[in-house]
Formats: sequence, structure tokens, C-alpha cells
Amino acid sequence: MTPVRLYRARVFSPIADPFANDVASSYVAYEDGYVAVDEAGRIAAVGEWSSEVAQEGDEIVDLGRGALLTPGFFDTHLHAPQLEMIGSYGGHLLEWLNRYTFPTEAKFRDPGHARKVATAFFDELIRHGTLCALIFSTIHAEATDIFFEEAERRGFRGIIGKTMMDRNAPDFLLENAADSHAQSRELLQKWHGRGLLRYAITPRFAPTSTPELLERAGDLKREFPDAYVHTHISENRNEVEWVHQLFPEAEYADVYDRYGLLDEKSVLAHGVHLSDEELDVLRARGSRIAHCPNSNLFLGSGLFPLHRILDAGVVVGLGSDIGAGTTPSLFTAMADAYKVQQVQNVSLSPFHLWYLATLGGARALSLEGETGSLEVGKSADFLVLDCGATPLLALRGGRASSMEDLLAAFIFIGDDRAVREAYVAGRRVSF
Ligand SMILES: [Zn+2]
Repeated sequence: MTPVRLYRARVFSPIADPFANDVASSYVAYEDGYVAVDEAGRIAAVGEWSSEVAQEGDEIVDLGRGALLTPGFFDTHLHAPQLEMIGSYGGHLLEWLNRYTFPTEAKFRDPGHARKVATAFFDELIRHGTLCALIFSTIHAEATDIFFEEAERRGFRGIIGKTMMDRNAPDFLLENAADSHAQSRELLQKWHGRGLLRYAITPRFAPTSTPELLERAGDLKREFPDAYVHTHISENRNEVEWVHQLFPEAEYADVYDRYGLLDEKSVLAHGVHLSDEELDVLRARGSRIAHCPNSNLFLGSGLFPLHRILDAGVVVGLGSDIGAGTTPSLFTAMADAYKVQQVQNVSLSPFHLWYLATLGGARALSLEGETGSLEVGKSADFLVLDCGATPLLALRGGRASSMEDLLAAFIFIGDDRAVREAYVAGRRVSF
């Protein structure tokens, strides 16, 4: 046996979908547990601690009962260039894009600016416990390259794409479809499948795309069927109405489908106002929805019908949607997902919420065979959470009667201070 490193602490991990299975069998939890990581950075064992679990030559890292080992979080939709404009208030989606987003994204033609924001961006994600994310860049190829470089430097599991857009935005953010295709193709060939990095073909959304641009995006998807597709759908009622005007012959989902942009590697942000017919299309193609409750509340976009989407057989992950989301925190995403369902008379348990932020996110990104849970053979991607990180967390967590209650404490009052350490593929990542 090759030596392993054993991390001893409280352990919690989803292992199955609690929306589809018995909740009690959807996770493992150990009050005094351990995770063993082999030299290749894979999980060799998980279980209840005892003096017999360590073999000769193993290194034991005793983190104490105040630490909780859990999978890293997955952010299935956000915009790296919008980090600096979080909290730009006032206005709904279309007005907000014009007033704040487009001028902010235009600054990324300057590589120096892109480098500065990329550094801050990955610092913030990892500090908040996000170890894998599906990320929009801007239309700028060089800035996109810089986001990839920074993810690679950190050992971050990133799926990134150059935004494609050729109409209905200021001139300084428009490109032509042929250039958009050529630059995206070059970035895809450079980065897709390099280490932990993957490429996402990223048309911003239907309204900023001519039919030609969508055709070119579809060409890329046909040439590289393993690449992701990342875009938005049905976030806001005025946006849906606009899509009907621009593409009168089709429903919103049909627009993407017609150009060959929907399969199981397609992740569509929001999906707040989808029709039953559109849900049928998404289910048939296996496409995923990124639910971004914090953003939906901030922009007043609407209340996500989680159970209607799940019942239709569509896989859902959680996203922060920075910068319409006001924090990179998946703790907040879980808390806001809870509240958005509460006002619709649905109560989600901490087990359901934690699943959405971890294994459910991995599934939304088609990575559940590799990561997303603490199971033997998977990549050792995990967080060390500090149950006493703040006085309030110590007070609230200290009276937690069960693992379920402890998770609730983290969800509702946890923040970046709760993340003590983060590991990807067994290697500690810095923030
Ligand atoms: Zn977005």
C-alpha cells in the first residue's frame, strides 16, 4: 500500500440526489471521521475514525472536532469580469446590462485590468469555498486567456468561455460572427481538457446574437462535441418578450436548439419563466439549468420554480451569477435558494441545499464521476470548514443537535470566514 494522508475531523458528504432518493441514504456523516487521500490526490477511504484506520507510513492530520470536512462548492454560473460591479443597484435585467455591465466589461480590452480582476476573482471564489465554476469572460480573447492562466496557476477547476455577442450592445462590445468563431475556436483548442480546465462555447444570450453568430457557435459545438455550452435563458419577462420579437418563429429554448447548442454539456442560467414545452426540449436534450437565487432577487427577475423544473427531469445546479448576484458565497446561494422556495411553500432541508451546492453542481457540470462528493476513487476536492469561525457560528453551531442542524448553521450564518482550508486533487489551494 502506498502511504496516504489521513484527515481526521467531522465529515459530511452528499453521495446521492435527495430529491430523487430517500434523504437518509443520500449522504454520509461522521461525527469523528476521516478522509484518506493517496499520493495521486484521490480519495482512498472515507469513514468513522478508529485507531486501526491508519497503516504504517500514513500521515495523520488531526483537524479536531471543530473542523468539518465537506466537498468543495460548485458555482454553475457567474461572470468573472463583473466582480468589481457587485451591488450596482437599480433597474431590472435589460436596463442593468446597459447601465452597468457593458461599460464594465469594455474595460477588459486592457490586459492589465483583466489580470488584476482575475487575481481578485479567484481569491474570492476559493476564499468562499468554491473550487469549481462555470465562468463567463468578456468578448476579449486576451482577457479570457488571462482568466484561464489564473485558474491554472491556482489549480482551480474552471470551465471558462469567451463571451460571443454581435448585436444589441454598444459598438465597443460587438464583434462579427466570423471573428468570434475564430477566437473562440483558438481558445477552445488551447484550453479545453488542459489539466483541470475546460472550455465553454459562450454566446451571451439570444438577444445579443444574430442568427449567424448562433450558427457559428453551433459549428464549434459540432466540431468539438465534448465542449460545454454556457448561456442564459428566460431570466426576466421582458427579455423573454424580446426574444419572441427577435426570433418570432420559436420559443426561447428552441432558438438554442435550432442551432445545435443544446445537449447534456449545455448549462443555461436562470430558466425562471420556462414553458412546459421548453422544459420538454431541455429534458430531451439533457441540458442543465443554473439556478441563481441571489441574482433573481437582486434584479427582481422572479421566483424559480425548482420542483417544476426537477419534476420535468431537468438537472439543476446553483450559481452566484456575480455581478447580479451580490456575493460569490455558495452559503448565501443555499440560503437564498431556501428563501425563494419558502415563499412558494416549499421547505428545502439542509441536505437538499448542500447537495445542490456540491454533488448536484458537479452533476450539472457533468463532473460527478470525478468530483463533487467524498467517495473512494474521486478527486480529493474538499474544504475544511471551521465550526467556530465566528462568535455567532460558535454559539449557533455549538448548540447544533445534529449534522443537519450544523449544516443549517453554516448555510444561514456562514461566510468566507468559515473556510479554513481548501484542497483540489489533494493539493492545498491558496487564497
Ligand atoms: Zn449571468
